[in-house]
Amino acid sequence: MSTAESVGARFEELYGSAPDGVWAAPGRVNLIGEYTDFNEGFVMPLALPHTAVAAVSRRSDGVLRVHSADARGGVVRLAPDELVPLSDTGWAAYPAGVVWALREAGHTVPGADIHLTSTVPTGAGLSSSAALEVVTALALNDLYELGLSAPELAVLGQRAENAFVGVPCGIMDQMASACCTDGHALYLDTRDLSQRQVPFDLAAVGLQLLVVDTRVKHALGDGAYAERRAGCESGARALGARTLREVEYAHLPEALDRLAGEAPSVRRYVRHVVSDNHRVEQVIALLDAGDVRAVGPILIEGHASLRDDLRVSCDELDLVVTSAVAAGALGARMTGGGFGGSAIVLVETADADTVTKAVEEAFATAGHTAPRVFPAVPSRGAHRVA
Ligand code: ADP
Ligand code: MG
Repeated sequence: MSTAESVGARFEELYGSAPDGVWAAPGRVNLIGEYTDFNEGFVMPLALPHTAVAAVSRRSDGVLRVHSADARGGVVRLAPDELVPLSDTGWAAYPAGVVWALREAGHTVPGADIHLTSTVPTGAGLSSSAALEVVTALALNDLYELGLSAPELAVLGQRAENAFVGVPCGIMDQMASACCTDGHALYLDTRDLSQRQVPFDLAAVGLQLLVVDTRVKHALGDGAYAERRAGCESGARALGARTLREVEYAHLPEALDRLAGEAPSVRRYVRHVVSDNHRVEQVIALLDAGDVRAVGPILIEGHASLRDDLRVSCDELDLVVTSAVAAGALGARMTGGGFGGSAIVLVETADADTVTKAVEEAFATAGHTAPRVFPAVPSRGAHRVA
């Protein structure tokens, strides 16, 4: 049985009739451009083959029922009319938040039955939350013929996460899940959501991008995102810029001089964001020129910046990078929010096994939980499957 069929069958068991349709939306890894999306900067994610799959039916009676095969607690029953932001509905806040955001934006969504399951590892920095939001938004867009574009659905998903769930994330994850295409990375300008699909066929040039899920999440991460965000905002203010996007890399030294009176952390955050925006542009230029191997050292620089300037890495992520590079990887860096989660490793296909073993051995020697390693095959964004 296909995933769509089994998800549909489970839907029917739960709700008593077949779903109106089945949709899928992927998780993502980000190649380069980290903590830049809330500074109106550049990012470059690619969608993973791992997806959230949702079977959904319309309801006209003001009832919203949501169920996840992966969460405890059975069917959650809510009323679209009575959805209240930040009301701690657990995991159900993600799909319910999308219903809320659609209705807030003036769309008619009287109710729905939703059953979902996901192969995106949760809390691994691979955007299982965005996959949930985007799959819900796309399903409701199709079923209620709302006519929204993929970027509009992404923005609504972000609004659900920011305002309803209460997580102050940027727009990258939802845009990746909604807009990525097979075999491409998504070069996204988060200022105006303009985008370019960049061919990213690593297999054709004998390379692989590995994802290393460290399977740890350090509690420190919870407040750190908001603190970095606030630091970037005060840096921009002190420079008279609307956001750090406006600070050009060529003028970074002067900008840092002008921030001499600010907290050292603010200067570090500014240096990270401005230099990571520049790294995205460097990577794009290299990919356009077909020089994929030269991306490796830029990933390593990006990791150093996240570790030393933004300070969002951790021992496990640093160990992925050092052990992979020592074993011959072309480059590696943490990806996503940090403090655990996942790293990416660019390797020659011929070296992938050696590098994987080296990372696993380094983790065993350090006494860390065994990491989960898999190739990041650039996959398609959200779509209807049945
Ligand atoms: P990430 O997006 O990096 O995986 P988040 O903390 O942003 O991590 O989102 C993870 C949360 O999303 C989970 O704690 C859960 O509430 C929700 N979630 C993700 N996938 C599922 C799923 N398959 N079923 C139920 N809830 C899920
Ligand atoms: Mg998330």
